[in-house]
Amino acid sequence: MTERDTHRVIPLVDARAGLPIPGFESIGKPGLKSAGQVLDQRARPLRDLRISVTDRCNFRCSYCMPKEIYTKDYPHYLPHASLLSFEEITRVAQQFLGLGVQKIRLTGGEPLLRKNLEQLIEQLSGLRTLEGKTPDLTLTTNGSLLARKARALKDAGLQRVTISLDGLDDAVFRRMNDVDFPVADVLRGIEAAQAAGLGPIKVNMVVKRGTNEDQILPMARYFRGSGIALRLIEYMDVGATNGWRMDEVLPSAEVIARLQQELPLIPLEASQEGETAQRWGYANAQGKHDVQQGEIGVISSVTQAFCKDCNRARLSTEGQLYLCLFAEQGYDLRGLIRGQGSDEQLRQAIASIWQARQDNYSEQRGRMPAQAGSTGRRIEMSYIGG
Ligand code: SAM
Ligand code: SF4
Ligand code: SF4
Repeated sequence: MTERDTHRVIPLVDARAGLPIPGFESIGKPGLKSAGQVLDQRARPLRDLRISVTDRCNFRCSYCMPKEIYTKDYPHYLPHASLLSFEEITRVAQQFLGLGVQKIRLTGGEPLLRKNLEQLIEQLSGLRTLEGKTPDLTLTTNGSLLARKARALKDAGLQRVTISLDGLDDAVFRRMNDVDFPVADVLRGIEAAQAAGLGPIKVNMVVKRGTNEDQILPMARYFRGSGIALRLIEYMDVGATNGWRMDEVLPSAEVIARLQQELPLIPLEASQEGETAQRWGYANAQGKHDVQQGEIGVISSVTQAFCKDCNRARLSTEGQLYLCLFAEQGYDLRGLIRGQGSDEQLRQAIASIWQARQDNYSEQRGRMPAQAGSTGRRIEMSYIGG
């Protein structure tokens, strides 16, 4: 048994161990919720589904897949047969939409490495929300393959992309991705996404104190007025392999203070419930938001918990459902998908799991002494996606 297996999900069909589905015995019987918006124990609706389509990546960002651990011979990559097929993903996504999900984000690993991803996008874009609308369909990518693929993704029905980019300086960027990938190729990918109409585009930058903090201002200057919203993300203690340390976190408040010295900003209202980023608009000479200049966002997952509105569920590449980025275990939906379960039973299972959800890790972390949060058993970001 591998180390990962010891804390991986126990199949749903074996409800004696691992994370059993709440109300598992009643699945298939009348009485369990199987349609309409579900709420969890903290009255948070299920709205956002993130689907990881691969656990592989062509980058080795040290905060996510450190090179020393994710070597060519890394033993825990999933074998192909473990992956949910496009048909399985589409089927399960459809059940999530029947329980209130509005937005589907494809992620990974690097999602553009999954072969024929356009086919999956086409299938997903044919699905409908409870209100009969096309779900908001988006994807997070490191941008390395975007120049080649942007047009095909758009044609398949993808609406938007979020691109991760940790700096503009080529040397800093190559060091951050740790595979010597040039920044110019990602910038070309961003342009291709813009040209294909995959917007509004967001660019995510993880800020590590002492590593790329000098890139904050150049990145803000570069994207200001471009129609692209830059979002600065606090380096998080996800997973167990990145050697996270609090002193490498640059709090968002400090990021904003540094930006304000050169680029005046004013706070903006959240555009939707459950939004992870706090939005700031570039101000004009009158101190009002200059819409032409656009906005930036900060995601303060470490210093300012936003669990209160967290409406996100995460489906791993092999069909495990995680209720929190910091979860140690998930629920095996693949067991149900590949078993005899009907669509209604699948919805009942998902609804029961969500209705029992209590997760609020970031809020709890705020009450813990520094470093106390890590148990060393958490699931990796490359496995469940961001
Ligand atoms: N490979 C794709 C990419 O990089 O955009 C998608 C998957 S990646 C896991 C999703 C997002 O998680 C990226 O924006 C990445 O920067 C972010 N991320 C990964 N590890 C992180 C960490 N330790 N702290 C904060 N953000 C992290
Ligand atoms: Fe790959 Fe994205 Fe993780 Fe970087 S953050 S290693 S690009 S999965
Ligand atoms: Fe959601 Fe968990 Fe993050 Fe809180 S810590 S916002 S519950 S994913």
